[in-house]
Amino acid sequence: MMDRPPASAGSDVSERARRLYRDAIVIDTHNDLPTKMIDEGYDPDVRHPSSQGHTDLPRLAESGITAQFLAAWVDAPYAQRGPGASFTRAIRYIDAIHTFVDRHPGHLLFATTAGDVRRAKREGKVAILIGVEGGHAIENSLDNLRALHELGARYLTLTWNNGNDWAGSSLGSGDTRTAGLTEFGRDVVREANRLGMLVDVSHASDQTLADVLETSSVSVIASHSSARALADHRRNLHDHQLRAIAQQGGVVCVNFFARFIDARMRHAMDEAEARSAEPLHPENDGEPPRSTPAQRLAALLARIPPTPLSVLIDHIDHIARVAGIDHVGLGSDFDGVPLTPAGMDDVTALPRIAQALIDRGYGDEDVTKVLGGNVVRLLETT
Ligand SMILES: [Zn+2]
Repeated sequence: MMDRPPASAGSDVSERARRLYRDAIVIDTHNDLPTKMIDEGYDPDVRHPSSQGHTDLPRLAESGITAQFLAAWVDAPYAQRGPGASFTRAIRYIDAIHTFVDRHPGHLLFATTAGDVRRAKREGKVAILIGVEGGHAIENSLDNLRALHELGARYLTLTWNNGNDWAGSSLGSGDTRTAGLTEFGRDVVREANRLGMLVDVSHASDQTLADVLETSSVSVIASHSSARALADHRRNLHDHQLRAIAQQGGVVCVNFFARFIDARMRHAMDEAEARSAEPLHPENDGEPPRSTPAQRLAALLARIPPTPLSVLIDHIDHIARVAGIDHVGLGSDFDGVPLTPAGMDDVTALPRIAQALIDRGYGDEDVTKVLGGNVVRLLETT
C-alpha cells in the first residue's frame, strides 16, 4: 500500500482550514502508540507508512497536533495474574511514554495541565499526556491511583472491555462486571476528583456511567466513544448519556474506529468473525487465532467499500447537536484500532476534520472547540 502524502500538504485541505487548524489547540485524547511500542517493538522515533502504524514522532510533528494523550493500557489477562501484575504493567507503559518524551526534548513536552498544553503550542512542540486505561490497573488500591497520578497520569479509564471488582464495563468480556460502581468505585471517583485526574467513562457500562455522573464533583471525559444513535455498538453512547455528560460540563471525544462508527462495517465484521470464530481486532476476546487479525481484516476489506470520512463527521455533528458544541472532541484510538475512515489514515490527516467541519457550515470558533478547545477547558477544571 502506498503511503499517502501528508494531509497538511494535501490539496483537499483549503488555506482557511489549514490556517484555522494551525492556530487552534488540537488535542487527541486517546492513542495506543505505547502498545505498539511495547508489544510489537515498534520504533516511535522513525517514520512508518500508515499501513504499519498511525503514529510516530515524525508524523506527530508534521501533524501540527498540540497535545496527544497516550494510553497506558492494561490488557484484561493481567487482572488474573496475581498481585502486582496489573499495576506493574501500567507503570511499564508510563515509563515507556516518559522515555519517549525524554528522548525528544526539542519536539515533545511532557504535560499534565492545560498550562503545559498552551506552553507546547507556544513553543511549537507536541504535548504528551498520559491516560491509564483499565481500572484493574490500580488493583483496588487508592494508593496505587495516587501513584499513577504522581507519575503523570491525567485520566483513568474506569474499565476496559473487562469490568473489574468495582466498575462495570460495556462489554463485560470474560464474564466480568457490567453492573455499576461499588462503594469503593465511588471512592475511586472521589479520589480522582481530589487529585485532579479526569474520570474517563469510555468502555464503562450504562449503570457505571450513571453512577459516575451521580458521584463525580468534576466534569468527566469519554476519551474515545462515539454516538450509539448513529451506530448501535455497546462502546458508543446513547443520546441521553451524551446529554448527561454535557450537563455536567464533560466532553465526549469521538472514536475513529470504522467498526464502531459505521453500522455497515460493523455488520460485515461481525459476520466475518462469526464465520471464522476469530476476532478481527484485539478489542474482542477469543481463542488463540490461526491467522493474524490483520490478515483476516485485509481479506474482509478487499470485499467491502471503506467507511467514508463523512461518517466520522456525522458522529461529531450528532454529538454537537445533542450534547452541544462545547462537549465534543477527538479521541481517535489511533494505533488501537485496525480500521479508520478513508482519508483518516494517520495523525497527519487530522486537518481534514477541520476542512470537513467547515464544509458543513461550522464557524471558526466551533471548529476550534471540536479540535481541542473543549478538552483544554476540561483540563482547566481539574
Ligand atoms: Zn479503549
